[in-house]
Amino acid sequence: MYTTQTMEQLKQEIPTLIIKTEEDLAAYTFTKTGGKADLFVMPTSHDLAAKTIAFAHTNQIPLTILGNGSNLIIKDGGIRGIVMYLDALHAIKREGTRIIAGCGAKIIDVSRFALEESLSGLEFACGIPGSVGGALYMNAGAYGGEISDVLIEATVLTATGELLHLQKDQLEARYRKSSIADKHYIVLEAVFELELADKMQIRLKMDELTEMRESKQPLEYPSCGSVFKRPPGHFAGKLIQEAGLQGYQIGGAQVSKKHAGFIVNIDHATATDYMNLIEHVQKTVFEQSGILLETEVKIIGEDK
Ligand SMILES: Cc1cc2nc3c(=O)[nH]c(=O)nc-3n(C[C@H](O)[C@H](O)[C@H](O)COP(=O)(O)OP(=O)(O)OC[C@H]3O[C@@H](n4cnc5c(N)ncnc54)[C@H](O)[C@@H]3O)c2cc1C
Repeated sequence: MYTTQTMEQLKQEIPTLIIKTEEDLAAYTFTKTGGKADLFVMPTSHDLAAKTIAFAHTNQIPLTILGNGSNLIIKDGGIRGIVMYLDALHAIKREGTRIIAGCGAKIIDVSRFALEESLSGLEFACGIPGSVGGALYMNAGAYGGEISDVLIEATVLTATGELLHLQKDQLEARYRKSSIADKHYIVLEAVFELELADKMQIRLKMDELTEMRESKQPLEYPSCGSVFKRPPGHFAGKLIQEAGLQGYQIGGAQVSKKHAGFIVNIDHATATDYMNLIEHVQKTVFEQSGILLETEVKIIGEDK
């Protein structure tokens, strides 16, 4: 455990950093599960984020980046070391046909900002509940669009705290992956190139996608969205449905009756319930179809 001593050292070296100990991470995840963070820090500037990373690197303290927690299962034993929550870096601004957004901004808010500015290109993201940082990390996408379609540049920090400006091709975006994940970069800011368009048309598209999402997804329950990646040539949800798993429950976690690709927290589920259910789904689908479902959701932290 990294608590009192590391906390004092961190306070001394970065006095203006907001630091909490033993913060309950369930409050920060969409599944509403997960244990505690030894040290939970909230930088309010790029400089404070860079100093935190350099501190963790120099003192060999594990560092975990938390975005909006919509694609994470944090195990019930929590996270050792430092969890850096970047929510405060959420500025969004326009420059010509570009939008520059902080890593902590919600991609939904960026897409709404684009609508207000009559800029088209981010309509697909209007229902993705991640932060800009998480969306770049995952190359998030929906309904035929993905972040890399509109992203042109990102400001990141390396694992040692060095600031880099990366161009689109250096981000190596592909299906639900990017160099952010491969190279352990920490996103600070992203630049999106959009196109001027009719506001009404943008709004209509967003309304249409929202309606589709609300009719198909179990948004009334906590969840982490699609648990599994789409296996080439198949749909995870359909394979799960065909394996007869819809409604299957372990503890408080259930394969959604509305969308088999989702696992919902219907009754005080723990992260362990989620993981046991994921394993059961993988095993059953593999036995029935020969296809191994790979998780899209990131599972991190320690067992209890
Ligand atoms: C109801 C629901 C619907 C969803 N629909 C979609 C969808 O349509 N399409 C889709 O692609 N996804 C979807 N998701 C999943 C999720 O919203 C995306 O994967 C999103 O990009 C995750 O962003 P986040 O900020 O929540 O990341 P988190 O869950 O907080 O973290 C995910 C990963 O990103 C890393 N990360 C976060 N911020 C940064 C940063 N600044 N720098 C570096 N790494 C960072 C974390 O360390 C972690 O490894 C859905 C989720 C839910 C709950």
